[in-house]
Amino acid sequence: MCGIVAYVGHRPACDVVVDALRRMEYRGYDSSGLAILDGDGGLTVRRRAGRLANLEEALAETDPSALVGTAGIGHTRWATHGKPSERNAHPHRAGSVVLVHNGIIENYRELRAALEKRGATIQSDTDTELIAHLIDEFVQAGRDLLSAVRAACRELTGSYAIAVLCDKEPNLLVTAKKGGSPIIIGHGDKQAFLASDIPAVLPYTREIISLKDGDFAVLAEDLVQVVDIEGRILDRE
Ligand code: GLU
Repeated sequence: MCGIVAYVGHRPACDVVVDALRRMEYRGYDSSGLAILDGDGGLTVRRRAGRLANLEEALAETDPSALVGTAGIGHTRWATHGKPSERNAHPHRAGSVVLVHNGIIENYRELRAALEKRGATIQSDTDTELIAHLIDEFVQAGRDLLSAVRAACRELTGSYAIAVLCDKEPNLLVTAKKGGSPIIIGHGDKQAFLASDIPAVLPYTREIISLKDGDFAVLAEDLVQVVDIEGRILDRE
């Protein structure tokens, strides 16, 4: 069982993401990572195999100015596709898109072959990286991030809980859920949180929404909007 977390608001996202990952350590994992996006679209990704402490060491060695962004995603991985390693650790990036994923993409082989045929360079052995490439293709075709994520998810078979950032839309994040992995969203005080489990966000908010299978959501400082795959707004209060 891995953990995904995400934050958008006014605090340095790195602090919130690392704290939330620590609160989900009990779920078990083999590697960890995070991506921090600043308001100008500057993206910093750090990933490490092994304990969360290894990721914290990498962050301590990072120029602090690269970690001031107020949007971020984080992940503790339990490998299903590709061995536990830094290269396979999440987040995975493709072009302007970076994401974390919990679950298993069953049509991995077909998707990988199709993406490579269209010219994508796949850098890891994971099923997850393919989702990033699919979303990036739709962003490159002119879609906004939410619409690109909805379109990409139509092509996936399997289970997923994902959190996605895009450097073209730096002040929001998009999430989607289908299958076994839970996603809860916390919001309030001009910030929004997302996690695989409630304890990760409890220090920050008690306003919590639980996503249902097939839900997508866009999160920003003052916005949490849940939609279905067609983009129709859903009431999940
Ligand atoms: N299938 C993905 C991978 O192997 C996600 C695993 C997870 O849920 O941690 O990277």
